[in-house]
Amino acid sequence: MRIVLVGPPGAGKGTQAAFLAKNLSIPHISTGDLFRANITSGTDLGKQAKAYMDAGNLVPDEVTIGMAEDRLDQADAAEGFLLDGFPRNEFQARALDAYLTSHGIALDGVLDLEVPEDEVVKRIAGRRICRNNSAHVFHIDYKQPKTEGVCDECGGELYQRVDDTEATVRNRIEVYHRETEPIIDYYKRQDLVVTISALGPVADVTRRAMEALEDRRDEDGEGAA
Ligand code: AMP
Repeated sequence: MRIVLVGPPGAGKGTQAAFLAKNLSIPHISTGDLFRANITSGTDLGKQAKAYMDAGNLVPDEVTIGMAEDRLDQADAAEGFLLDGFPRNEFQARALDAYLTSHGIALDGVLDLEVPEDEVVKRIAGRRICRNNSAHVFHIDYKQPKTEGVCDECGGELYQRVDDTEATVRNRIEVYHRETEPIIDYYKRQDLVVTISALGPVADVTRRAMEALEDRRDEDGEGAA
């Protein structure tokens, strides 16, 4: 399946994407993770992206789209992928459509994770992430690690993302409303959107997401038959 995941910062996109990608045997492609990897390894692309990311603003489209397409070109994405954090505005959505059309493929669904706004700030400001694996996510109140600052899963160091502080989170939410929310309507016009609640235990959200995607796959299958 070819899926796009959307939702405000703090909806749990990264966590859900990791589980869904595993269940569906498709690669999890996160542009945020790709940027962070570039920053860590000190590439030019990382240097270009860093200031935008630290402030919670979008990295310019020309940098982002090229990076996303390079990743989609890799062999493991040939049969399907789960895009997390891309596209993030209508220009990127149109660029992705053009890319897919030129490859003779199309999206199967857009999964929209819904979460109330006041929950978002609480979730993000307390979030701590493992340096080894961004899918290992903890929270200072909701999901404390057994040992403070240490990942339960792999022993990695837990840290707070520079862009997870309260002021930056508020800007990221504003950017989400202004730039990213309109792509939900864009994809609704293509009849691709399934919306689920991102509240409750992680496993419940994953189950809801899997059911919604399987329903979509069945509908597509019938449509094609
Ligand atoms: P994320 O890990 O998805 O929350 O992304 C972290 C940051 O990376 C965002 O706040 C942006 O600065 C940047 N970023 C990630 N994906 C994109 C994108 N598709 N377009 C522009 N900037 C992005």
